[in-house]
Amino acid sequence: MRAAYLYRLDLAAPVRPMTPGRWRAVHAMLRARRTCPLCQVTHPYVIPTSLGCCPGCADPVALAA
Ligand SMILES: [Zn+2]
Repeated sequence: MRAAYLYRLDLAAPVRPMTPGRWRAVHAMLRARRTCPLCQVTHPYVIPTSLGCCPGCADPVALAA
């Protein structure tokens, strides 16, 4: 069997445990991904990076039609 050991487990640091501050940061990041930079509305879905804003801001005419 051929193997390539890229990481030495005996030298690896343990995973840092989640603290209330880390959870706050995680949820802030998730909220930022769901907040439109144009209308500042926090949507239940992640803002598409291809648009850079919510679909409503990207094309309000097509959305209203
Ligand atoms: Zn928007």
